[in-house]
Amino acid sequence: MNQNCIFCKIAAGKQEAVLLYQDEDVTVFKDINPQAPLHVLIIPNKHISSINEATPEDQVLLGKLLLTGSRVAQEQGLADKGYRLVVNSGRQGGQTIFHIHVHLLAGRYMTWPPG
Ligand code: AMP
Ligand code: ZN
Repeated sequence: MNQNCIFCKIAAGKQEAVLLYQDEDVTVFKDINPQAPLHVLIIPNKHISSINEATPEDQVLLGKLLLTGSRVAQEQGLADKGYRLVVNSGRQGGQTIFHIHVHLLAGRYMTWPPG
């Protein structure tokens, strides 16, 4: 655990968050500043700063983030209508929290290209 990382603290139960799911690998919680009717973050419990720091050993874990996002969308009854999974990477990519996370956005029409 990275002591200075807010998402590490959420995964460890040391920072308040609305959890939707947690297991030994991943944690899913509501985004504090939602951009859609459903906006949750799927994170690995292990600290990885960004996709740039991920290694081949993280391959299965990274896949699990996507599959977990899809499963949560299904559980929330929003999978059939459609949804968006987003990974912002680095400052120009819009990343503000440097613990890798997948955004799951659903419940409204998404625009393209993103801002
Ligand atoms: P990004 O800009 O891709 O790094 O996304 C970071 C996301 O984390 C933003 O959508 C924030 O609203 C969200 N966020 C920041 N702090 C918290 C927190 N304590 N609990 C839940 N979501 C948070
Ligand atoms: Zn972290």
